This record gives sequence, C-alpha cells and structure tokens, in this order.
Amino acid sequence: MTTSDELIGLVRAYNPNTNAKLIQKAYDFGAEMHEGQFRRSGEPYFTHPVEVARLLSDQHLDDSTIITALLHDTVEDTRASYGEVANKFGTEIADLVDGVTKLTNLQLSSSATKQAENFRKLIMATSKDVRVTLVKLADRLHNMRTIRSMPQEKQVLKARETMEAYAPLAGRMGMQWMREELEDLAFQVLNPEGRASIIRRFIRLQKETGDVVEHIKSDLAELMHGANIHAEIQGRAKKPYSIWRKIEAKEQSFSRLSDIYGFRVIVEDEAECYRVLGLIHQRWRAVPGRFKDYISQPKSNGYRSLHTTVSGRNARRVEVQIRTHTMHQVAEKGAAATWAYRDGERQINPFALDPSEWISSLTERFATEGDHGEFYEAVKLEMYQDQVFCFTPKGDVIKLPRGATPIDFAYAIHTRIGSACVSAKVDGMRVPLWTRLRNGQSVDIITAEGQKPQASWIEMAATGRAKSAIRRRLREDDRDRYVKLGRELARVAFEAVGRKVTDKALATAAKHFGLLSAEDLLARLGSAEITAREVVSEIYPNLKVRSTDEVASDQAVIGLDPDQTFTPATCCQPLPGERIVGITYRGAGVIIHAIDCPKLERFETQMDRWVDVHWQEGQHAATHTVTIDVTIRNGVGVMGRICTLIGELKANISDLNFMDRKPDYFRLLVDVDLRDVSQLHSVLTALEADSDVAEVSRYRDVTRDPSDIGAVAE
Ligand code: MN
Repeated sequence: MTTSDELIGLVRAYNPNTNAKLIQKAYDFGAEMHEGQFRRSGEPYFTHPVEVARLLSDQHLDDSTIITALLHDTVEDTRASYGEVANKFGTEIADLVDGVTKLTNLQLSSSATKQAENFRKLIMATSKDVRVTLVKLADRLHNMRTIRSMPQEKQVLKARETMEAYAPLAGRMGMQWMREELEDLAFQVLNPEGRASIIRRFIRLQKETGDVVEHIKSDLAELMHGANIHAEIQGRAKKPYSIWRKIEAKEQSFSRLSDIYGFRVIVEDEAECYRVLGLIHQRWRAVPGRFKDYISQPKSNGYRSLHTTVSGRNARRVEVQIRTHTMHQVAEKGAAATWAYRDGERQINPFALDPSEWISSLTERFATEGDHGEFYEAVKLEMYQDQVFCFTPKGDVIKLPRGATPIDFAYAIHTRIGSACVSAKVDGMRVPLWTRLRNGQSVDIITAEGQKPQASWIEMAATGRAKSAIRRRLREDDRDRYVKLGRELARVAFEAVGRKVTDKALATAAKHFGLLSAEDLLARLGSAEITAREVVSEIYPNLKVRSTDEVASDQAVIGLDPDQTFTPATCCQPLPGERIVGITYRGAGVIIHAIDCPKLERFETQMDRWVDVHWQEGQHAATHTVTIDVTIRNGVGVMGRICTLIGELKANISDLNFMDRKPDYFRLLVDVDLRDVSQLHSVLTALEADSDVAEVSRYRDVTRDPSDIGAVAE
C-alpha cells in the first residue's frame, strides 16, 4: 500500500506548496475510520481510498481533491459524519466528500440501459463541483481494476454502469486514457469471449506483419527529421474494446491497421501541426473522407488535434493524430486537470464550484479563434443547468425541465398515470402536486381509479407533454358534458312541440345537419353551436307552438306610429311587462330600451328622438332573448338538471357560454328565450332555489350596441 509519505511526495512533485500536514491528517483519519474493514480481495479497505488518491495525484489535482479521495468512503461506510469531516478538514472538503457520497448512492438500474444518457447527465448535475466527478471517476477506475473479487452478478452491473455512464463521462471530461481503460475493463466483464477473440486475432496479425509500430514510427521520425521538425512520435495498439467497436460499427474485417494502431506526432505549436500534416500527405496518400480538423473546430470537451488516415507501408492504412504538447495534455488528462496548477501555484478555486464558471474558463482557454459562441453554447448545454433528473421507484431516470412538478413526472412516465394521479411521494414524503422537483429525488406517483385531470393542473405543469395531455382530457370531459346537456335541451324542445326525443329523430336531424352521429348533434346542441329550436324545425318544419289570445307581434308595443317598426335593444334586453322607452333611428325604426338601461344617457340631449311606448298587455306571441348569468357546481348531472329546470318553465335555451371554469364551479351565460318578465322571474326563482346554483342574476352587457342599424344611423 502506498504510504502517506509516498503520496505526499507524489503531490509535492507537481505542487511544491502542498499542505502536507493536512494530507497526513486525512490519511491518518481515513486509516483510523476504515480500521478493521476489508475489501473482498482480503486487503485492508483503506488501500482503496489511498489508490484513488494516488490516481488523482497522477492527474495533478489540488490538495482538497486528494484529501477528498482519502476520505471519500468515510461518511458512507464508517462512523464518521459530515460534521466531523467539516470540523477537521473544513466545509470545502466536507462538501466534496458529501458530493461523492451522493454519487455513490446513485445507481443505474438493471432495466434502464436506455436511460444511460440521462444517468450521465444526472451525475454531472449532481456533482456541482467538477472535482466530485473526478474523484468519482478515479474511484470507479480503481474499483473496476479490482472487480475480479466481486460476485459475478455485481461485476456485470458495475461493468454496465461503467460502460454506459462512467466511461462516456470520462470522455466528455476529456480524459481519453481513462475512457479507454474503463471501457476495456468493462468489456472484459461483459464480453470476455469477444475480447479474447480480438486479442487472438491481434496476436496473429502481429506475427504476420512483424512489429509494425516500430516501422511506422521510424518512417514518421525520418520524415520529421528531414524537415527539421522537432517532434515526439508515439505509436500504440488500440485497446481491444476500441478495436471491437470499430469493427462492429463498420462490420469490417479485422485487417485494417488504422483500426488497430494509432500514431501521434506531437509538436511545439499550431503552425507546425499543419506543416506536419502537409508533409505526411505529400509522403503518403491520404484516404479521402478521413481528415478532421479539430484545431479550428474543437470538440465540445476542449479536444483539439488534426486527424488523418494515410495509406502507408504495403498499402496498409494508418491513422495519425497531430497536436501540440498542450493539446496532448488536454486530450489525455482532461481540460479540468490541466490548469489546476500553473507554474506550481494553485489557481484560486480552479474548478470554480459553479459549473458554468468552469465552462467559461474552459472557453477562455480554448477560444483562440473564430466564433466560439457556438462552442460555448454546446458546452453550457452539456452542464444541464436547465434540467432536473428524478428517479422512478424502479430506478429509471426521468429527465424534466427545471421547475417541473410531480404532474410532469407522472405524464412523463405514461399519460394514463398522469391522468390518474392524485398525489405524490418525493423521497418517501407526501408532497403537494405543485412541488418543484429537484435533482436526484425519487418520485412515487400515487394514482386512483376514476381520478380526472383538473384544469388547475395546466398551471402546475411545466412540460408541454403534460399540458397538452391535460387539455386533451379536459376537452373529452367537456364533450361528455355537452352530450348530456344537449340531450336535455333536445328533450325540452321536443316536448314543447308535443313530441318525444327518439334516437331515430336525432339521427335524422344529425344527417340533416351533415353530422356523423346523433351524439355529434347532441354535443353541438350542448355547446350551443346549434339551437334546439333549429333541430326541431328541421324535423317538424310545420309545427308551431301557438296558443290563443295572443298579442300579434306587430301590435306588441303601444305608442308607435303606424309606419314605425320596433326592435328590442340587445344591451338591456327588455321584456314585455317591463317599463320601456323607444329611441328613433333614422330609417331603422324604433329601438326599445328598458327604462333603466345605462345606454339611454347618450340620448339625454336628443329628446326629440325619444318615443313614449309601453308593452301591450296579454300573452305575447314572440319571445325575447334574455341573458342569465349563473354559477353552478361542477358536478355530474348538474348542468342537465339546470337545463331541465329552465325547460320546465317553457323557456328555451338558445345559447350557452362558459365564462369561467374552475375545478369546482362553472360560471356561464345562458341565453333564454322568454315571453315576458314574469316568466323571467319564475326562471330566476327556480334557479335560485336549486342547491347546485351558487349565484344567478340577469346579465346586461352595456358594451353591446343596441343594434347594428343603430350604429349606422347615429
Ligand atoms: Mn470508493
């Protein structure tokens, strides 16, 4: 096991100002805490945190990171607490340890392969500090290197997690060597036969071709020497997993050298990179379509290099990467690691606790030319500031926008679950449905049969998916209600002419109106797109409701000249039996207003236009439309009953408008055709008496113009 002196020596080599005392203290504390614990391999447990710290010292990380590595399992696995670590080592380190502990508790469920991308994002989002991710990756690397002593089942689970989440994460952070090693270790567990066959074929190829690597390296070295370029040349066989993946992807045979070996030419500056590229392309034939310039267009993790493939010795294809030493550092160690120490000095908080700051320092570093706004956008998005990741009880990760609630979560799982949702448990606690979800929370949606989405949910939901599903469902519910209401309206209208509503009559009427079904007709009746009277007269064109002793409509108003015609005003909707006054309009006759209509004020200075009129006594033949403002309970059958009530008083509903829909109450404007004011009073009284009616009143819309003709005449 690496001793504390050895570890401190490794750190001091790149960081002369290291706090050796604190590292020593952490080493002793960790050793004490893990005392008596053993790994499955039989080694003392503390060997693991020490090796993790050592791995991180290879990456030249700061003291806090090294100490975090030494302590990373103490809070999770020993009696040490956050408070104790904070007391001894400060809150910065305690928070880092806490961050690693949180990541350790995240697990990719065995059923969630397709969730890997989200899981990766969750790790990033949970980390907050890049150093947490770096410690977690080193932890995983050491665990994968020593995975053989684990039970087979656990090996497979960890290997899959590594392959799907941690290896790509290492790549995303720019640590290519770690990505490759993690992949290869996982490959060994997940597909040992596949890996063995790659290695067998590799050895066979090596026997056939001899040591290709040395030959090609010396060819390249000669070329550089001839051009007087000082370059470091590297050649290596790729990891079995990289080869496997390339063969799989292209379904190619094993023979391509470019898939097996990789070469690098590392030079002083950027200009030399392009010079080297030119030399290589002059000497060997470039393979079309294989050249990539990641210098002028860096990858989002900061990676820069020139890539090309040429036909080399014996027409074998060879891949060459050309880069500067700095680019190489970044490619191997990751963008985050390279500026932790500049000139041996620790930078002030080099990993900026805020990932977005980290990103901007990254951009500064790589923004050397061109438009990097796009690059910044790409990287910023990768930090997932605007997203939240939560778990289902099964361990699947659900990705949601920030501000999402359990309602969004429920709809993200399934529309059925969203619609039936009644409440939610977050991390085991009951919460209201409007609770904003946070990263890493596990959410359990409680559903109930017969539950329906509420209109108020639209406001609570943050995702379009949930909002539109709720709206769709509310519309369907509305249709059901409209159909029921339409049936009542039809019944009342048919009875008014002494007929019964039959399915056949409705189907016939539907056909007349060009509708598909009787239900369609009823829905339109209920939503007032068609009036019940239109339906009745469509089927019984000759039936009229008439009784004796009626006042003919042309004699209904007394006080007009014989050549004058009258129209009741739409603003105040006067009814026979009410006190009225007429206003003349040039060429349009007389408009009848109720005496208390506010509109009359406008005519106060034009007394010559006023006509003294009153209604004829007795039964009037024509009906007059009056609007009633009614607020009713939103309950099954309430609407239908209200309509029946109005119908029983021989009044006809001609229009219906929803003003307000609350989960509990509806406020609607109902246009009722009435004969006189006493009929209105019966209707209002009957409604008022109903227990499901909260409020009812006559509605007068003074913004309505008395008549279109009026507007012309004034
Ligand atoms: Mn560990």
